[in-house]
Amino acid sequence: MSPGPAAKGPEQPEFSFGQSWPGLVYLPISAFLDATQRYQLLGGISNGVTDFIQEVTPHEVAHQWWGHMVGWASYRDQWLSEGFADFSAGLFLQMTEQKPDKYLKYLDNARETILEKNNYGMSANDAGPIHMGVRLDTEHTAGAYQRLIYPKGGYVLHMLRSMMWDSKTGDANFIGMMHDFVETNLYKNATTASFQAVVEKHMIPNMNLAGNGKMDWFFDEWVYGIDVPRYKFDYQLIPEADGKVRLKASLAQSEVSDTFRMAVPIYLELDGGRIARLGTVVMKGNSTNSNLDIVLPQKPKRVMINQNYDVLARK
Ligand SMILES: [Zn+2]
Repeated sequence: MSPGPAAKGPEQPEFSFGQSWPGLVYLPISAFLDATQRYQLLGGISNGVTDFIQEVTPHEVAHQWWGHMVGWASYRDQWLSEGFADFSAGLFLQMTEQKPDKYLKYLDNARETILEKNNYGMSANDAGPIHMGVRLDTEHTAGAYQRLIYPKGGYVLHMLRSMMWDSKTGDANFIGMMHDFVETNLYKNATTASFQAVVEKHMIPNMNLAGNGKMDWFFDEWVYGIDVPRYKFDYQLIPEADGKVRLKASLAQSEVSDTFRMAVPIYLELDGGRIARLGTVVMKGNSTNSNLDIVLPQKPKRVMINQNYDVLARK
């Protein structure tokens, strides 16, 4: 067998397919072409192929952790492998691209894949929770397994990362949790419950939305449930003394069960395009919070919610 470039792994002749084995990643021949070769071979700039290579290679490499170092116990837990690998592919884009555009597009595409309706009027998300694994594929929801487990499994991790983010320590909480998950499940088959136990060990106070120190609320919603909220955000900026400005805002959550809770981050765009996270608003059920009233030291260019697709939501 031709070993291929060591930095990537062996090539295999199928054009758009990758597979990860323990200690070995098979990548399509197209992944070994540089941009010029792809241009010559494909007769133009093919963004589809470039995206495929940028996303599938890290997905397959990520299976060295998610799938091989940590396995999954049953089809119900397979999202721990495919979802985590999809999350890792997004992380790769965030870390290797200068601008956040491709990373945000990746998250938006994942959102579309989860919620897009097929000819029967069914989205992959309508098929059932990610915990159903391969049983999501039915006559009216063909392909739902792949269209849900991968991107929504990735979103579960993405949402945890966002909730664990800290303005001083960044991703340190999340990274600590993921290291612990690998260490406690190394060369074992993890279950959804074993993952939840690690999340609960590392949860921070603003994740305690049910007030009982557990993350059941989150797993019930996103792993064992199918609710996907819609948000409506309105705000006003009112000038105050000393160049300060008062932010008055209202946030509405809809299309969910009465018990559905989520913490929704609010962001500010400041001078020079810098984005800063202001804080989070906890929402429960179908409701509107019109009491948001904060004095800011300076006028932001705009105020946004969910800027980093922090919560999987309808648009
Ligand atoms: Zn995979």
